[in-house]
Amino acid sequence: MAKQVNCPCGETVRGNDDDELVANVEGHVRDKHPEMVGTMSRDQILGMAVDS
Ligand SMILES: [Zn+2]
Repeated sequence: MAKQVNCPCGETVRGNDDDELVANVEGHVRDKHPEMVGTMSRDQILGMAVDS
């Protein structure tokens, strides 16, 4: 199931499945929020996800 995370910075990060969503969120964090790299576990990312 496709899911998305609404980042507090206003960006919406989408993925077609959990693995893709987590990878995309991690990529977004590396690009936009380098200070947060390593602070979010897979479970936390999926906990922020909503159905898209
Ligand atoms: Zn962001």
